[in-house]
Amino acid sequence: PVDFSAAEHVEVPAKEGCFDHIFDTDENSESTLSIIVVGASGDLASTKIFHTLFALFYEDRLPENFTIFGYARTVMTSEELRNLISRTLTCRIGQREKCNDKIERFLGRCFYHSGQYSSEEHFFELDSKLKEKEVGRLSNRLFYLAIPPNVTVDAVRCARRRASSENGWTRVIFEKPFGQDLESSRELTRDIKQYLSEDQIFRIDHHLNEELVDNLLVLRFSNLVFEPLWLRNYIRNVQFIFSQDSRTDIQGRLVKFDDYGFIRDVTQNHLLQLLALFAMETPVSIDPEDIKNEKINSKVPGLGLRLDQTDLTLLYKSRCTPRGIPDAYERKLLDAIEGDRRSFIRSDELDAAYEVFTPLLKELERKKVAQELYSCGSTGPVGVHFLAAKHNVHYK
Ligand code: NDP
Repeated sequence: PVDFSAAEHVEVPAKEGCFDHIFDTDENSESTLSIIVVGASGDLASTKIFHTLFALFYEDRLPENFTIFGYARTVMTSEELRNLISRTLTCRIGQREKCNDKIERFLGRCFYHSGQYSSEEHFFELDSKLKEKEVGRLSNRLFYLAIPPNVTVDAVRCARRRASSENGWTRVIFEKPFGQDLESSRELTRDIKQYLSEDQIFRIDHHLNEELVDNLLVLRFSNLVFEPLWLRNYIRNVQFIFSQDSRTDIQGRLVKFDDYGFIRDVTQNHLLQLLALFAMETPVSIDPEDIKNEKINSKVPGLGLRLDQTDLTLLYKSRCTPRGIPDAYERKLLDAIEGDRRSFIRSDELDAAYEVFTPLLKELERKKVAQELYSCGSTGPVGVHFLAAKHNVHYK
């Protein structure tokens, strides 16, 4: 197995203009960002999304002009939303102290509009309220869909038709699940794409460990020594080992996988992403779209650009910021605001993942294959040794 921990030692040059500088432009004062949390009355919104937005505000990572709108069916006033948020918002996170003043200022930017997810009229009302806050500036709008899948397409339709930006960008963040199998995932993507283009779609994968992904890319493409050897002729086998002390969701709750949940939730996306990054051809550049293009194995004709000569600034640690690295969720929101789709899942990636795993899952379900359990703290199920031996390799 490849020891990815070596990537920790790779030195890459710090990039000028890290997160702290993203909004430090003239455009900043002339544009405004509206973040609309759809499903604002829900669990994810109140326990995670508003907290994350506050963290970004606290770190001065949000643009100068921004407004946050909660949207859901529950009838409440903006003041009641602020009370809901402030109930759990504290200054305790990390080194933040004496931040009451910042909390007050943050809450002052939060508003609420009640409406149905399928009502274009209600989204039109939201649009009017957004415009009041945007006061004629160039407006960028980020919709965060924190709602159950059955209302997702309706909300996308209404947001696109009645509340999308008229002079800036409109982006939409989607929460899992992105369908249950190849068919339902394709149907969902097809429905969403009636209203949004690919570059407006941001599918969040909470499990995608960006540090590991970044390190893997840096390890492969910024170390000349590896590239000539990264071939099937020299690498006999690769093993991805997903180990953890306990499995928790983004709020720290213990998660148990039923049936083949682990395959659906982790193997299908997170581990497959790592495999793709490990096995892909050298991308034309580190542009997120080029990396995504090189993942499931298309050869780029006339590939001449060596990545060791490019400004390969992928490690967040090296991306400056004396204020430290933002947590994974903060990064994802920042990436969406910045339009960086590297850590989000593109439609064809999702499709490819389902194409690989749907037949497998169906087969497992049909044959009722029992999962092999193993003790916590052990090196995993005994069966992996047999599997490895079958291919004449050792399980490490
Ligand atoms: P909730 O069940 O809390 O739903 C969010 C809001 O959606 C509710 O407050 C409610 O608002 C509205 N809603 C709930 N059920 C329905 C329904 N049947 N029809 C229409 N509206 C409904 O969900 P979460 O906040 O926990 O999660 C939101 C999304 O994020 C889900 O898709 C979930 O799978 C995903 N997710 C959640 C995680 C978590 O930790 N919570 C982690 C990863 C993904 P109102 O009645 O006011 O309209």
